[in-house]
Amino acid sequence: ARPVVAIVGRPNVGKSTIFNRLIGDRLAIVEDKPGITRDRIYGSAEWNGKAFSVIDTGGIEIDGDDMILKSIRMQAELAIEEADVIVFMCDAKAGVTQSDEEVAQILFRSGKPVILSVNKVDNLKRVDDIYEFYSLGFGDPVGISGSHGTGIGDLLDVVVENL
Ligand code: GDP
Ligand code: MG
Repeated sequence: ARPVVAIVGRPNVGKSTIFNRLIGDRLAIVEDKPGITRDRIYGSAEWNGKAFSVIDTGGIEIDGDDMILKSIRMQAELAIEEADVIVFMCDAKAGVTQSDEEVAQILFRSGKPVILSVNKVDNLKRVDDIYEFYSLGFGDPVGISGSHGTGIGDLLDVVVENL
């Protein structure tokens, strides 16, 4: 089976935007099982001749602070189970948030390769905003912009190296 890359992160960081850029028009089966798997979206992608599946884990977003936190945890845990490589996505505009730290703790325990990606680096002024993300403990953050498509090749290079 092809390896699986999961995009994990709190709501609104741009997971779905990046997912759509990665898969282009190759949206595969949307799982239609009852319960929690229903909302997750699977697609396929290819980079440097390597094919892989991509999961957008952001399908489950329930209102209320407590539920949001629970759903973030649940998605991170599901992604850990299924993924060979995890893309941990954060938001340069927002900076490091408490929810990011929650996700980081879960991903730390996974033992899977985690690639830290900081989205919304839309212009040169924001390039400096990625440095605070070193504090999450996953090494070099890869700055990207889902709006402009910049940095996504660099991100995919690192993803594919870890497959
Ligand atoms: P998700 O909840 O993590 O799946 O995030 P979405 O992909 O739905 O994006 C959340 C919001 O961020 C949307 O309004 C997007 O248009 C916006 N967004 C996504 N990528 C970027 C980016 O690179 N720069 C900026 N400025 N906004 C972005
Ligand atoms: Mg989403």
